[in-house]
Amino acid sequence: MNSDSPKYVIIGNGAAAISAATKIRTIDKSGIIMIFGEEPFLYYYRPRLPDLLSGDAEISGITIRHPDWYENLSIIVRTDVGITHVEPSRHVITTTAGETVPYSRLLFATGSRAFRPDKFRINHPSIFTFRTAADALALKAACEGKKNAVMIGGGILALEVAIHLCKLGMAVTVVEIANHLLPRQLDDEGGKFLQTLLELRGLSFHLGRSTSEVITAGNSISVKLDNDVPISGDVLVVCAGVVPEVEIARRAGLPVGRGIVVDNTMRTSSPDIWAAGDCAEYEGRNVGLWQAALAQGTCAGANMAGMEEPCKKISNTAKIKIAGIELLSSGIIDNDSFRPITYRSDTVFRRIFLENGCPRGVILFGDLTGEKEILSAISNKTDLSAWGDRPIDPGFEWIKTS
Ligand SMILES: Cc1cc2nc3c(=O)[nH]c(=O)nc-3n(C[C@H](O)[C@H](O)[C@H](O)COP(=O)(O)OP(=O)(O)OC[C@H]3O[C@@H](n4cnc5c(N)ncnc54)[C@H](O)[C@@H]3O)c2cc1C
Repeated sequence: MNSDSPKYVIIGNGAAAISAATKIRTIDKSGIIMIFGEEPFLYYYRPRLPDLLSGDAEISGITIRHPDWYENLSIIVRTDVGITHVEPSRHVITTTAGETVPYSRLLFATGSRAFRPDKFRINHPSIFTFRTAADALALKAACEGKKNAVMIGGGILALEVAIHLCKLGMAVTVVEIANHLLPRQLDDEGGKFLQTLLELRGLSFHLGRSTSEVITAGNSISVKLDNDVPISGDVLVVCAGVVPEVEIARRAGLPVGRGIVVDNTMRTSSPDIWAAGDCAEYEGRNVGLWQAALAQGTCAGANMAGMEEPCKKISNTAKIKIAGIELLSSGIIDNDSFRPITYRSDTVFRRIFLENGCPRGVILFGDLTGEKEILSAISNKTDLSAWGDRPIDPGFEWIKTS
């Protein structure tokens, strides 16, 4: 590498960081690429952290990039090293060890951290959040020989963690402020359908409830709900959403909303600084999904290496597995004026929301048959009136509508 080559510095070692580094290397074969990650591990698949908790996977089993990958692409990776400051005017960053490192092009790929509401900001050995491999391993260790867990939150992450705590033999009680589970992906009936399935697996729920008090006694912990019902546990896990990791960018003077504000090439207001993934905000949207982090990282990498490439459109479709059951949720699912058409069986809940015969939103749970056709009917605003309620049936022949 010669001294005139650009020096690409990336803060973070997750999905956005690695997709950016990979893209840079396909375009620029010789520029120096340095990645700083404050976690002690190489790039791993964060969505599988619940498996680390239950013991279904070891950290090596969820690691996506091993040392030889970084070596083969001449990417310098520094794990366990955080960045504390960025000075855009001097083009330098400072590490937790106090070293300053110059850059010519910089990427913020700092992700998110777990949000802890004020009530739960108590330094107590039985209160946990769940974002990193270290969090998963610490929670697993704390559950050894223990029986009861209290989960604060009823979103995707909370339920996945709750299910994996059950696998460890824990009795789990979930407290959710909304009146039904997965309030962002399901409507009331879909949420109740999921709740019934999860109750059969041993989870219990307090929905439409918030915590009024957290009481600690020795190592155990209890919460009092707003209806005065107390619930105690050996561990309390707070899964109440995430906060984009933006503080260093803010201190560096970059515009920050919920995330670090970027244009459609993932560039910030500072010409040599980009941001991608959970920490970025584009057109007022901070997405917080794995595929979005990959797409934004790739886009940032291309532009950092001198291309002019706008970011691919990011869909708002959530496609996840919850308790091993596939769920797809897309579009508008909470508008009371839309007409729902529903198919349900003991294990399947499917619903399309129609406005004047055109599909505007969909929930498919347990059977995703026709997902492509339904999503395309939503984006093309296809009028399905002629088929009455039949399009929600898994056996519906979509070809006839086109
Ligand atoms: C348990 C779990 C399950 C999930 N399941 C799904 C799913 O099923 N589907 C889905 O789409 N999404 C899922 N997500 C969300 C998904 O993991 C994130 O959207 C994705 O990881 C974002 O990638 P990222 O690279 O932007 O950030 P991250 O993966 O958060 O990586 C950012 C990295 O930067 C590091 N960092 C932060 N600040 C600094 C600093 N100052 N110096 C150095 N390093 C720093 C962090 O430690 C972290 O390692 C899940 C998340 C969790 C926690």
